[in-house]
Amino acid sequence: MPLTSEQQAEIDDLRSTTQPTLRAVAPGAEKHLYTAHPVLDHGFVRMVDYMGDDAAICQAARVSYGKGTKSVQNDEGLIRYLMRHWHSTPFEMCEIKLHVKLPVFVARQWIRHRTANVNEYSARYSILDREFYIPAPDALAAQSVVNNQGRGEALSGDEAQRVLRYLTDDAMRCYDHYEEMISQDGQQGLARELARMNLPANIYTQWYWKVDLHNLLHFLRLRADAHAQYEIRVYADAICSIVRDWVPFAYSAFEDYRLGGATLSATALACIQRMLKGEEVTQENSGMSKGEWREFMGVLE
Ligand SMILES: Cc1cc2nc3c(=O)[nH]c(=O)nc-3n(C[C@H](O)[C@H](O)[C@H](O)COP(=O)(O)OP(=O)(O)OC[C@H]3O[C@@H](n4cnc5c(N)ncnc54)[C@H](O)[C@@H]3O)c2cc1C
Repeated sequence: MPLTSEQQAEIDDLRSTTQPTLRAVAPGAEKHLYTAHPVLDHGFVRMVDYMGDDAAICQAARVSYGKGTKSVQNDEGLIRYLMRHWHSTPFEMCEIKLHVKLPVFVARQWIRHRTANVNEYSARYSILDREFYIPAPDALAAQSVVNNQGRGEALSGDEAQRVLRYLTDDAMRCYDHYEEMISQDGQQGLARELARMNLPANIYTQWYWKVDLHNLLHFLRLRADAHAQYEIRVYADAICSIVRDWVPFAYSAFEDYRLGGATLSATALACIQRMLKGEEVTQENSGMSKGEWREFMGVLE
């Protein structure tokens, strides 16, 4: 169950009341406001608040460019220009605050993005719920043979059954002991801040995460990428859907120049120039290592 009944009641209450405002309102964001989008087996992402819209990005850019922006005819063109030329500060005028429920091992990757404000559920003060991420069968994959940092085909048969049983049984056993250790029924009860060390990294935590659009797009560029770990990528994908509706021009420029685009080294660019002249370029005469060449071919294909 991704949302508790208390959280659902809070969402229903917040969505049932409206306030008149003079602030910029992004219609695409309003439909997501407070709505929890399910992710993985018990997680979710929900937008708690936002500031700004596509127009706010242009408004800031027009302060820095002044009359120069007159050459750009519309907001979409201006936003594409800013994205193309890495003029990033106007994107920092927009902010988003998300409530995220996620497994601890995903949180550990996520927290590396330092340019955000985070407030996490306190397992010193509160008791963690008995909720653990157990991969769906198609996500229960073997170690990749080509990439040390990736996964290959899904496990099958007895091995898949055994791994799933270990994951579930170990989680339940650890939680049983956690509950028993903190219990004050007939004993002193171990401090929650200590008892939590017994819990595995697939237990769920929750946090509020606030970030500006520039840094959020950087996060999405890395984590919505096909090479990102599946369990963080599904959160990034859910956030992409929200951002697409919130700031459609900015998201479409991001999709074009960053998510779908590629950065080439000077060596790679020289190879393309030679190919365009009809020369046969191979890894051996490219000046690239095997790994670089493989990635270069991946971009071209
Ligand atoms: C595929 C992949 C594999 C990874 N593997 C590992 C791993 O094995 N081990 C590991 O520890 N991490 C790993 N990471 C995490 C990675 O090294 C970054 O910490 C993470 O992606 C956050 O990126 P960031 O620093 O650009 O983001 P943010 O922290 O949001 O920072 C955004 C930008 O602000 C600037 N900035 C922020 N803080 C500083 C600072 N203190 N000094 C200078 N500039 C700063 C930088 O320009 C930075 O790019 C991996 C990430 C990816 C995507």
